[in-house]
Amino acid sequence: RAYNFNAGPAALPLEVLQRAQAEFVDYKETGMSIMEMSHRGAVYESVHHEAQSRLLNLFGSPSGYKVLFLQGGASTQFAMIPLNFLSEGKAAGYVRTGSWADKALKEAKLVGEAFVAASSESEGFRKVPDLRNLELPEQTAYVHLTSNETIEGTSFLNYPDTGSVPLIADMSSDILSRPFDLESFGMVYAGAQKNLGPSGVTVVIAREELLEQSPKHLPTILRYDTHYKNDSLYNTPPSFSIYMVNEVLKWIEEQGGLTGIEQLNRKKAGLLYEAIDQSEGFYNGFAQPDSRSLMNVTFRLGTEELEKKFVKESEAAGFVGLKGHRSVGGLRASIYNAVPYDAIAALVQFMEDFRNKNR
Ligand code: PLP
Repeated sequence: RAYNFNAGPAALPLEVLQRAQAEFVDYKETGMSIMEMSHRGAVYESVHHEAQSRLLNLFGSPSGYKVLFLQGGASTQFAMIPLNFLSEGKAAGYVRTGSWADKALKEAKLVGEAFVAASSESEGFRKVPDLRNLELPEQTAYVHLTSNETIEGTSFLNYPDTGSVPLIADMSSDILSRPFDLESFGMVYAGAQKNLGPSGVTVVIAREELLEQSPKHLPTILRYDTHYKNDSLYNTPPSFSIYMVNEVLKWIEEQGGLTGIEQLNRKKAGLLYEAIDQSEGFYNGFAQPDSRSLMNVTFRLGTEELEKKFVKESEAAGFVGLKGHRSVGGLRASIYNAVPYDAIAALVQFMEDFRNKNR
């Protein structure tokens, strides 16, 4: 297997792929693949419901929350959130932390009134803003933040208390990487293709009271209440992706749930950040230490030429996906839940050898 550091779609646990392979052609002696079955049949429906309840279980099954399986990626949520929750006379607060937060804000502005609730632009998005004293005007419809900026490699250590104003988070690149209190959020959402499974399904977990009613004139498919009332079976769901999410959730349970996963993730990220910090300036972390992501480790070398050389030689050595996003440059190692510790140990060894040859 390649050392896969892709930002998304990303590595999946080998055990999950192997289990899916074993039942790919004949799912539980039905004589069919799960992807050949009707989404209205009992076999698929039990997978669908199992995935929903496993997901809530990982958060301690707080009451009043519902899991939706939608399509269109996290990008469609950027539009659906304001379409459903931003009514006339209200304004939505957006926390600006970098590339993805800005995409979400841009969509909200197409729909209605949106304001910047906090921003770390002046720090070049190398850190996340302090949200402890967030001041929200009356008539704030909701507050939106991006828990982990995939491109910059920053993330929040803790989340603000927004009182009665719903807090909504794009958790595409760090959902299920560590425990958090779901009850501080009105809604969280994530494209599956990083920590949850393959691409094709977007997971929404939200307070039921937010999902029960959508504005009257919104088209049916864009309404949360459609998907809520039909249990994400209004139209054909991405059934195979949801099946894979269920398998990934089983695997997370086997790792000791979110607490177990966090321990593994801290160990993995710690190893890589230590290699950067102890390189005597050969490698420079992009994110400031107090905002460092456990999932996307971004770093730069002294010159762009050296960075190109690093990418080329790392690819030749079997490492995939280390080139940073063009807007930040440099290198990025995405070390989602499924990236094994050994892959990171191998990368750290490669980095040390590269430094010795090029300093
Ligand atoms: N939000 C974040 C934080 C992301 O990392 C990404 C994709 O990488 C997206 C949103 C967009 O997700 P999608 O491609 O599922 O629309």
